[in-house]
Amino acid sequence: MKLNEKRIEQRLSKLSEFTIPGSPWTRRAFTEPYARARDWLEHEMTIAGLTTRIDHGGNLIGTLPGTNHALGSLASGSHIDTVVDGGRYDGILGVVAALETAQSMKENNYQPHHNIEVIDFLSEEPSDYGISCIGSRAMSGNLSSDHLQYTNASGEKLHEAIRRAGGTPEKIQNACRSKNELAGFVELHIEQGRVLESNTKKIGVVTNIVGIKRFEMIITGRSDHSGTTPMNLRQDALVGASKIIERVNTQAKEYQTTNGYLVATIGAIHVRPNAVNAVPGEVRLTLEVRSDKQDWLDHFPEQLITFATKACETERLQIKSRQLSYMHLTDCADLVIQTITRSANTLDLSSMTMPSGAGHDSVFMAQLCPTGMLFIPCLDGRSHCPEESITMEDAINGANVLAQSILSLDQRVEK
Ligand SMILES: [Zn+2]
Repeated sequence: MKLNEKRIEQRLSKLSEFTIPGSPWTRRAFTEPYARARDWLEHEMTIAGLTTRIDHGGNLIGTLPGTNHALGSLASGSHIDTVVDGGRYDGILGVVAALETAQSMKENNYQPHHNIEVIDFLSEEPSDYGISCIGSRAMSGNLSSDHLQYTNASGEKLHEAIRRAGGTPEKIQNACRSKNELAGFVELHIEQGRVLESNTKKIGVVTNIVGIKRFEMIITGRSDHSGTTPMNLRQDALVGASKIIERVNTQAKEYQTTNGYLVATIGAIHVRPNAVNAVPGEVRLTLEVRSDKQDWLDHFPEQLITFATKACETERLQIKSRQLSYMHLTDCADLVIQTITRSANTLDLSSMTMPSGAGHDSVFMAQLCPTGMLFIPCLDGRSHCPEESITMEDAINGANVLAQSILSLDQRVEK
């Protein structure tokens, strides 16, 4: 099946231009540029011959009907919202490629067995309401009535925002798809890292999406005058914290030496009183651990907290830690992994398997149906910043592998 390469390029260009003019590329969910981008996308879906609807969770869905509705839908898509001052291709590539796949099927007179659904998920990036993946959560039954009460800085509740986006929050439970409605989901995305580039591979076949655990640690010492408190009498919370920070880095590198993926980060630090002439009395740290191995995800923080407790004891400090959040490790379906790998081979594109270190809507779709992802390289691994860049050749490669994969999944019923 031949994709229209020019159309992919034009749509990527057009869609990215819905942005706050002064700070490209900024298209936050629920804002005016986002609404305009959505209107445009819905129009493009209609031109492509898809029937469009917005589901109760505010997801925009375009459907190309298949010949056998009992098979359920094969779905593909991603998101068109961005972070503030984000990148041009994060999210939109997956939406544009899914749309191109469906449109090319129609133009090539290919009648799919399954319904083909092109999905633009509502607000994948962390929203101003304190929650990410709003649309895919709703679609998989993971958006609770508590979530709907979350409020943004100007006091608007999430349920009001979902309504503005065309959803029906009072029916949010009905946004949840039943498992036999969906036969599979495949998402194309830019890698957002440097693994493909450094391995000179064209396609990344995602095996799993890392689990994420986040913790807060509060280290308490004693705030004193920095001039009158001799070194041996101090209980300096920042000295304790510095040992922990160093340990997170070395311990994570020890894990990374064997076969698996683990990254750990102290990303936020608050020091009190944070003054040039005061001994730090309290430090708050956040620890984030991501891994594709469940036992590493469990053991790393346990080991680290044991170390931190001892280090604080030595410095006569108190430490309290608590888990802030836990996003489960998601395995991609073997069926989809193999289909993507075969499709890349058929198209003569080099590929490698890899975990995804970033979260995606696929995490939630995997709860509903066999799900998988493929990545294309992005320049120097830059993402979530205006420097984010890809080559059109890579974008087309990714779209071709996506289309080939969906075709293969659709044709499985013939075998
Ligand atoms: Zn994304």
